[in-house]
Amino acid sequence: ALKILSACINCDMCDPECPNEAISLGEEIYEIDAEKCTECIGHYDKPTCVSVCPIDCIINDPDNIETEDKLLAKFFKMHG
Ligand code: SF4
Ligand code: SF4
Repeated sequence: ALKILSACINCDMCDPECPNEAISLGEEIYEIDAEKCTECIGHYDKPTCVSVCPIDCIINDPDNIETEDKLLAKFFKMHG
């Protein structure tokens, strides 16, 4: 899953673009629900939130590295 860094400026560009509704405004900044983030596998070639973020504050979460199989399993669970 991906992770939003504290540099986030709450611009709301990423939230509407996520195909899994994994992004929402947390207490201070936008946050990604790791249970829902598939790194855009099944939808896009690259994570679309990363593409739209104007300050590049979305990264691969080093504490939550997932295999393509695991990400695909999440995709099928959510989208059938
Ligand atoms: Fe949503 Fe894709 Fe970003 Fe994950 S990588 S939060 S699925 S837009
Ligand atoms: Fe924060 Fe980037 Fe999302 Fe804007 S696009 S809300 S700066 S993570």
